[in-house]
Amino acid sequence: MNILNGNEVAKEIKLRIKAEVEELKNSGKKTPHLAAILVGTDGASMTYVNAKAKDCAEVGFQSSVFHFDANITKEALIQEIIQINNNPEIDGLIVQLPLPKHIPEKEVTETISFKKDVDGFHPMNVGYMFKGLPCYLPATPYGIVQMLEHYKIETSGKHCVVIGRSDIVGKPMGALMLQKNCTVTTCHSKTQNMKEMCLQADIIIAAVGIPEFLKADMVKAGAVVVDVGITRVEDPNSSKGYVLKGDVDYKNVAPKCSWITPVPGGVGPMTRVGLLLNTLQAVQNS
Ligand code: NAP
Repeated sequence: MNILNGNEVAKEIKLRIKAEVEELKNSGKKTPHLAAILVGTDGASMTYVNAKAKDCAEVGFQSSVFHFDANITKEALIQEIIQINNNPEIDGLIVQLPLPKHIPEKEVTETISFKKDVDGFHPMNVGYMFKGLPCYLPATPYGIVQMLEHYKIETSGKHCVVIGRSDIVGKPMGALMLQKNCTVTTCHSKTQNMKEMCLQADIIIAAVGIPEFLKADMVKAGAVVVDVGITRVEDPNSSKGYVLKGDVDYKNVAPKCSWITPVPGGVGPMTRVGLLLNTLQAVQNS
C-alpha cells in the first residue's frame, strides 16, 4: 500500500507557484490578488478564510478579506461584489460559505464575475468544466486530479466510483474523471447495492461526509482510494475535544489498496492548492 501524500504534493506545487509569481514580478507584471468575502463571525469560516490568506502569503500572492456584519443586506452585499468585480487590482474573488440565511447563495454566486470566480461555482465555469473547456475548476476535484497526476495513477479505461453528488465535489469529480478517460459511476444516498458498485471500482473517491462509510469489504484488492470526507468526531481524549475522521475506514481499507489518501494530509491540502492554481490562472486571464 502506498500513500497519496497531499501535504508533499501541495508543498511541491506551492513552490512552483511561488517561482511563477517571482517571474511575474521580475517581468514587471502583476502579483496575483485573491479577495475573500466573509459575512458574520462563524468560527470555522473565519479559520478557512485565514488559512486561505496564509496560503496566499506563502506563495507571494496578495490577499484581502472583506469582512461584513452578519446583518448586511443582500442588496448591500451584491453591491460590494459588483465593486470587486470592477476592481482591476483584484484577480480572484471567493465568498466564504455558508452565508446567513437571509442571503441566497445562488444569487451571490451568480453575481461574482465568472472571470474572477476562482471557486469555480458560477454556472458559466460549471458549464465550461462539463464541456472540458478552459475554466476555473472547483478546488477539491481539481486538487485530487493534480494529486493523481503527480503519482502517475493510471486512469484511462479504469472504473472510477465517486460516492457523493454534491455540486462542489461529487458532480465535478465525476466529470473530471470522465475527461481522464475513466468509466465513471456516481453513487449517492439512493444508490442500491453500494457494496457491489464499489467492489467493481479500480478507483474510489468517497465524498459522503459519513465517518468511515467505506469499509474493507466494499473495496477490491489493489484499488486506489481517495478520501474526501472530513468530519469532526467528539473525542474526550483529544486536546481539541474532537478528532477529524474521513469517509474511509482507513485502518481496515488501507491494507487492501494500491494507493490511499490519509485524513488529514490527503485531499485537504490539495483543495487549498486548487484555489491557488485558479488564482494564478486568474491573473493570467486578467
Ligand atoms: P454533501 O453536499 O453533504 O454531499 C454528500 C453526498 O453524499 C450527497 O450527494 C449524498 O447523497 C451522499 N450520501 C449521503 N449519505 C449517503 C449514503 N448513505 N450512501 C451514499 N451516498 C450518501 O457533502 P460535500 O460537500 O460533497 O462533502 C462531502 C465530505 O467531504 C464532507 O465530509 C466534507 O466536509 C468533505 N469535504 C472535504 C474537502 C477537503 O478539502 N478535504 C472539501 C470539500 C468537502 P444525496 O445527494 O442523495 O443526498
